Amino acid sequence: MAAEETADIVVIGGGMVGLASAIALRDRGLDVVLCDPGEARARTSYGNAGVVSRGSILPMASPALWGKLPAYLRNADRGLRLHHAHLPRILPYATHFLAAARTSRWRRAAAALLPLTSAAYPAHERLAARAGTNERLQQTGWLKTYRTQAAFEAAALEREILSHHRVAFEILDAAGLRDLEPALVRPFARAMLLTETGSVREPGRLIEACEALFAGIGGRQRRGSVERLTPEAGGWRVAHETGSVRARQVVLAAGAASGAIARTLGYRFAVAAERGYHRHYALHPESPPLTRPVLDTGAGSILSPMGDHRVRVLSGVELNARHAAPDHTQIEAASREAAGTLRLGGPLDNEPWLGSRPSTPDGMPVIGRAPRHDGLLFAFGHGHIGLSTGPITGEIVADLATGREPQVPVAPFAPDRLLGWPRLF
Ligand SMILES: Cc1cc2nc3c(=O)[nH]c(=O)nc-3n(C[C@H](O)[C@H](O)[C@H](O)COP(=O)(O)OP(=O)(O)OC[C@H]3O[C@@H](n4cnc5c(N)ncnc54)[C@H](O)[C@@H]3O)c2cc1C
Repeated sequence: MAAEETADIVVIGGGMVGLASAIALRDRGLDVVLCDPGEARARTSYGNAGVVSRGSILPMASPALWGKLPAYLRNADRGLRLHHAHLPRILPYATHFLAAARTSRWRRAAAALLPLTSAAYPAHERLAARAGTNERLQQTGWLKTYRTQAAFEAAALEREILSHHRVAFEILDAAGLRDLEPALVRPFARAMLLTETGSVREPGRLIEACEALFAGIGGRQRRGSVERLTPEAGGWRVAHETGSVRARQVVLAAGAASGAIARTLGYRFAVAAERGYHRHYALHPESPPLTRPVLDTGAGSILSPMGDHRVRVLSGVELNARHAAPDHTQIEAASREAAGTLRLGGPLDNEPWLGSRPSTPDGMPVIGRAPRHDGLLFAFGHGHIGLSTGPITGEIVADLATGREPQVPVAPFAPDRLLGWPRLF
């Protein structure tokens, strides 16, 4: 017979967001059960680029979208691969996305995200100190490189918004970039170094250490997917693969699976899985080390050092169903481009890794109480910045669950903004 137990609160999902929430809730003295299937590579938090940047305040739905749309629709832009048959299934997401791609909305999102991204690095430091992973977190800065002067000029609005919010950056010319990062052999025209940025080497190791930390402070973990979430008098019953838990509160932090789980309770969120791939390569033994993550804007991909002279090459966005078969087109193109940017040896993995960014169309996470159910908290939709903003989201979740005012304003992240269709004007 399946085991039945009780707790104060159940957290669904053990990626960066769920684990950080579970730890912060445990710190507040709550009896916490965390449910997750426990497959390390199934977590997007395992396979990302590890960038933790105060400057990550500019969502994908930018005003530049309109100029790029024809190329996006033809799959002629390296940063995005669209599976057209999937489009009808994400129509609410796509409609919200188009509505968000305006200068005024971009500026508003940046202002709303800044307190979250500003708190992200200190929250990572606090967590790493407790999890014993300080050496994995380094304040390296990160680089956005531009292959042409025209590409650099096209990003002027981004620099204007970052300057407006006093996010620190330096602009480098080709020689300055060569001096700073001699591992880069491609002649880039310009680069932007965002200095208030850390990077996590091998984010998967941080996740493992957080699991151990949670267990060490008395948290309970149940390996298995949550299959049913049922409201009951005074709380919830959460049924998972090996049993069930009764609790007063539930946190839904299941990354890209959260939309489908919320739907079983009648919430139809305009969210999507933005799939992405990575593959590791050895740097040539005679190459200088790569010392910080690099976004090659011309390739639409990121190169991130993972230690031991290894580089993780990460692809752009693929819009397709979460469980569709992998399509290696983008990671193969990203790897070819990477071979022209760094001196690389052969791939170190047999198969590229695939994960799904849990994405919202306006680039802001969903953090807040469920509008129609007591005792249900949403914490998902962190898109491209969930590794960095996961730890601070955990602290916010603990504030909300224990009736405290969150240290970061969460009104812009309210769930109801993504329920239903957008206001287009
Ligand atoms: C290529 C790529 C590069 C990226 N680079 C960066 C970066 O540099 N910096 C950054 O901040 N972010 C980056 N991201 C985004 C970041 O990885 C995600 O935003 C973040 O990992 C999301 O964390 P999460 O905890 O919400 O989801 P996940 O890590 O996916 O965790 C969700 C968990 O929920 C579990 N789950 C699913 N269904 C159920 C269920 N029914 N019951 C129980 N558990 C369930 C899953 O198994 C999983 O363990 C990148 C993403 C990609 C794909």
